[in-house]
Amino acid sequence: MRMIGLIGGMSWESSAEYYRIINQGVRDQLGPTASARCLLWSFDFSEIEALQHRGDWDGLTARMVDAARRLEAAGADGLLICTNTMHRMAPAVQAAVGIPLIHIADPTAERIKAGGIGTVGLLGTAFTMEHDFYKGRLAERHGLDVLVPNEADRATVHQIIYDELVAGKVLPASRDAYREVIGRLVDAGAEGVILGCTEIMLLVRREDSPVPLFDTTALHAEAAIAWSMAG
Ligand code: GLU
Repeated sequence: MRMIGLIGGMSWESSAEYYRIINQGVRDQLGPTASARCLLWSFDFSEIEALQHRGDWDGLTARMVDAARRLEAAGADGLLICTNTMHRMAPAVQAAVGIPLIHIADPTAERIKAGGIGTVGLLGTAFTMEHDFYKGRLAERHGLDVLVPNEADRATVHQIIYDELVAGKVLPASRDAYREVIGRLVDAGAEGVILGCTEIMLLVRREDSPVPLFDTTALHAEAAIAWSMAG
């Protein structure tokens, strides 16, 4: 089993899901006492979130690269950045280490394409929905058409992530708000919707959407299990 290096704590609410899914997957395949070989570097998210909202992407890149190098030095055979947003730094992180980075958008796109879907809605932080690092990879590398919510809906989706989900608050009124946003994406032509923030799976479930949902936390963690077990 290859050693999985997790760059997490962004937030710990979703890192806990990664840890649970990865260990459960190894148990399912290898038996009841088996568990994953992994390392977790867990940031204080209050520091990360402040840098994001200040737009200090250089400072964030330095932190992600430092974490990646520390995990590599500690024995990780490959890396996961356990958040969609911080994949903005994925190229810099990959360039800084000699071990592979499993990019969250790739297993997500593979599952979407396997479902015969070409046009997909994207929910996530404003950084993920509005900057090009994520949508661009889905379009250029995977040939997907990506729809994002309108401006007011993007603000709602972003605010619920930062005010509630990263703080462990899962509120029915916010689930209703997400259901409405998903409905408008479907009206605009989305054949599926990416839960492109690793905490959204805490709030939104399959029954909240008329079209298939693509949970990036689960898809990324499952890709890590497959990669680890292949080594
Ligand atoms: N976990 C979230 C994501 O997947 C948001 C937290 C962050 O900004 O890293 O984008």
